[in-house]
Amino acid sequence: MGSISYGTTNIRYSVELRDRKTMAIEVHPDTSVKVIAPLDATPEKIQAKVEKRANWIARQQRAFTGKRKTIYQPEWVSGENIYYLGRQYRLKVENGEKKVKLAGKYLWVYVPDRRMKKEIERLVHEWYLGLARKKFQERLELLQPMLEREQLQMNSLIVRKLEKRWGSCTPKGNIVINSELIKAPIHCIDYVLIHELCHLKHHHHGPEFWKLLTKYCPDWTKVKDKLEVFLG
Ligand SMILES: [Zn+2]
Repeated sequence: MGSISYGTTNIRYSVELRDRKTMAIEVHPDTSVKVIAPLDATPEKIQAKVEKRANWIARQQRAFTGKRKTIYQPEWVSGENIYYLGRQYRLKVENGEKKVKLAGKYLWVYVPDRRMKKEIERLVHEWYLGLARKKFQERLELLQPMLEREQLQMNSLIVRKLEKRWGSCTPKGNIVINSELIKAPIHCIDYVLIHELCHLKHHHHGPEFWKLLTKYCPDWTKVKDKLEVFLG
């Protein structure tokens, strides 16, 4: 077990020695950190490696805690955080005729009975889906010059709730985007759209794919890290 200080926090890590040549660092969902190191690695070398990757480790840990505390297990009660285009709103649940409305810093949800959590969840997701369809189409239109320049053949844009990914691109040129992405800031939405558009040309994650992606989204690594926080 070792530890380093990074900013105002302490990063504690465990070490596992294995018969291998390089060092690897794992950050687990409970925020624990494990360093897997070659048999002959010295404690100093291991510590230096952790220091070098401290920024990355802290970011992974934040992504995990952020997920648990704020975005991912909503109770669907008043006072909860709701995200839309990267901005945070407060959920307000009231009794009334079914309706969802964004006003000021609040997302108002009206249901016949405030205890109808499943119904609140359904209404909010329906609201997200409607906004996502509109917004993603709008952003796609702004990417038209890229489609033309790279001669990308796109068939259709499908927006729906996906369980584990932000988007996909089928061999037939259908692009599917997760409606939940509407929670993230605009530049994250653009990144996912550009990523999937690049797959129209390269149906893999090989060097040519990353080259094309970097051409249209130079800071994609930063955006990708930010996006992890919003992953459901
Ligand atoms: Zn991809």
